[in-house]
Amino acid sequence: MQLLLGNVNRFSKNFAKITGRKNKELIAILLHLVFRSCIISLVVQASIRILQAQGYKVTKPRRQVLEALDEAQKPLSPYDIQRLVGEQGKHLNHVTIYRILDLFGRLNLAHRVLSNGGFVKCSLGEKEGCHRFVVCRQCGAIQEFADKELCQEEDKFAEGLGFHTEYHLSESSGLCSDCYRKQLK
Ligand SMILES: [Zn+2]
Ligand SMILES: [Zn+2]
Ligand SMILES: [Zn+2]
Repeated sequence: MQLLLGNVNRFSKNFAKITGRKNKELIAILLHLVFRSCIISLVVQASIRILQAQGYKVTKPRRQVLEALDEAQKPLSPYDIQRLVGEQGKHLNHVTIYRILDLFGRLNLAHRVLSNGGFVKCSLGEKEGCHRFVVCRQCGAIQEFADKELCQEEDKFAEGLGFHTEYHLSESSGLCSDCYRKQLK
């Protein structure tokens, strides 16, 4: 990190000489970029470790789909993923993308958002309980959560119906706090 900061510092000084912009401003911009790329790779790296631990190879297409999901600000359809990977000069066919998304879903690396059909990377890691979402119907903001006790309650309810539950799939649709406040005005 020290070396990295030294390089950033030197680079920004040279750049400032050429452009005449203030050093401080440039250091802030560069640090932001360095920091952002570190964060992105950490999330992808964590997913890669899970794949390997489960005995799956980290193929190029799997890594590309992970990166596309990681950089996305909203749920992605398989078509979106194909386009994003395509922008980097790589082609992935739909069957490959669906297979990868299916695998990521089984490993909790990514999830399908039920209300819009798109896929997002998991933000909870190995948190216990089924991973679910609250989705704002106004702005599209999504938040992931998991609650083991909620799962147990649902299991009990299903048991009353003589049913043995293996997995829960549900989603809440409504308004996020911002949209709800705006609506009250
Ligand atoms: Zn998750
Ligand atoms: Zn909202
Ligand atoms: Zn559950």
